[in-house]
Amino acid sequence: MTEDAPRLNAFPIFMRAQGRTVVVIGDGDEALAKARLLAQSSALLRVVTARPTPALLSWIEANDAEHVRAPYAPDQIEGAVMVFAATGIEALDHRISNDARAAGIPVNAVDRPDLCDFFTPAIVNRAPLAIAIGTEGAGPVLAQIVRARIDRLLSPSLGPLATLANTFRDAAERLLPKGSPRRRFWNEFFTGAPARALEAGNAASARQAATELLARSTATRGHVALVGAGPGAEDLLTLRAQRLLMDADAIVFDALVPDAVVAMGRRDAERLPVGKRKGCHSKSQAEINALLIDLGNSGKRVVRLKSGDPLVFGRAGEEMAALRDAGVSYEVVPGVTAAFAAAADFELPLTLRGVSSSMVFTTGHDLKGGTLPDWASLAISGATVAVYMGRSVAADVAARLIDAGLPSDTAVAVVENASLPTRRRFHGTLADLPSLESRADLTGPVMTVIGDAVAGANFEHSTPLAAHRQVAPAEHQGTDA
Ligand code: SAH
Repeated sequence: MTEDAPRLNAFPIFMRAQGRTVVVIGDGDEALAKARLLAQSSALLRVVTARPTPALLSWIEANDAEHVRAPYAPDQIEGAVMVFAATGIEALDHRISNDARAAGIPVNAVDRPDLCDFFTPAIVNRAPLAIAIGTEGAGPVLAQIVRARIDRLLSPSLGPLATLANTFRDAAERLLPKGSPRRRFWNEFFTGAPARALEAGNAASARQAATELLARSTATRGHVALVGAGPGAEDLLTLRAQRLLMDADAIVFDALVPDAVVAMGRRDAERLPVGKRKGCHSKSQAEINALLIDLGNSGKRVVRLKSGDPLVFGRAGEEMAALRDAGVSYEVVPGVTAAFAAAADFELPLTLRGVSSSMVFTTGHDLKGGTLPDWASLAISGATVAVYMGRSVAADVAARLIDAGLPSDTAVAVVENASLPTRRRFHGTLADLPSLESRADLTGPVMTVIGDAVAGANFEHSTPLAAHRQVAPAEHQGTDA
């Protein structure tokens, strides 16, 4: 609430009344009105009236209230939790108010705000649910109008529903983790099957429905979905990924996942970036694992968004192992990996009858070691090679493959920002590949595809790689190192 929001001069509270004495003093209609109001509670009602009107007298008798048939005396209010002065005589109301205050008992004097410690609200009663409407005495008629409106709005079955809720409260607190699982249970309780059964007047089936709901809710703990966000274009997201995003309580995402995809999540989902992005601190893998476990254990539906396919160079293996060890359930939703997006952008057949019958997805980083990895021989025997994170090792990749016997005129296709409107395509041969390393203008993610099958691609929208060979080496930057 802001500083200058209007302030209440009387603050609403609910006073414990069960088994406690409340005293009403007065002979006529005002006393009767207060007695009636108080009879909506389980307070022990004492009416002090020496000369009750016939209406008041018969109400007292019919409602089993305690009748003190004597003029007002201070000992009549001893031990009371509330006192109502409704004598209609100013001096007497004054005395009562003073006595009550001296005894530390909150007092209300009908139509005399100065003598009141509290005001009585208009009440919508769906016990144990109560709505109290107050106007600080400014508009009793307004309070009645509002009361009537609210009364029409709320089903009479809300009372029994709240009573039923009370009998489930302990179990829900014991069995459901605090936060969204418990909130979801109560939401469903108050709007779903239990509410509908009571609305139809069927208390037994409402209890049954609530029991089943609790059993179902305890079975559903937190869950993490490792979801492939695809190469960047929003419409390359799978329908399953979209559904999970729209149901998510928390979305944990990498730097390469575009904002537009993150934005497709449920509006009030927590959004947690964990990758390096424009100077933001990135989390270590151990921190990410711990975060996923925490979110899962707190009962959240978590979407762990990774670019492309989550199982391709996404460190999903470590995350899955950590979740398994922690006993957090998880699932994997595949996505379109960058190599496929790159191939599509070039209309490049990754397998080509008679030319290439296998594919290698690699980072190229293992080419830096002393021994040639197995995939180099696969490349030589015709496999199509897709190099992830390969920009900074382009020269090594080319040199080692040529050393190993791959002809230096083997076709190469390179795409930056595959699938996105900002994509840029380049083509050349293995001999041109080292030029990639010195291209400072490539700031987006870059995918390189090498092999004879690449020769079958469509280079109509692509620039020759060699054209940039002469560009001076610049500092390495971007996401592709
Ligand atoms: N799991 C991801 C790969 C993550 S590794 C996937 O399946 O695609 C990151 C590397 O993927 C980048 O360095 C780049 O080589 C490649 N990459 C991701 N998105 C790309 C895109 N839109 N265009 C080109 N390469 C991309």
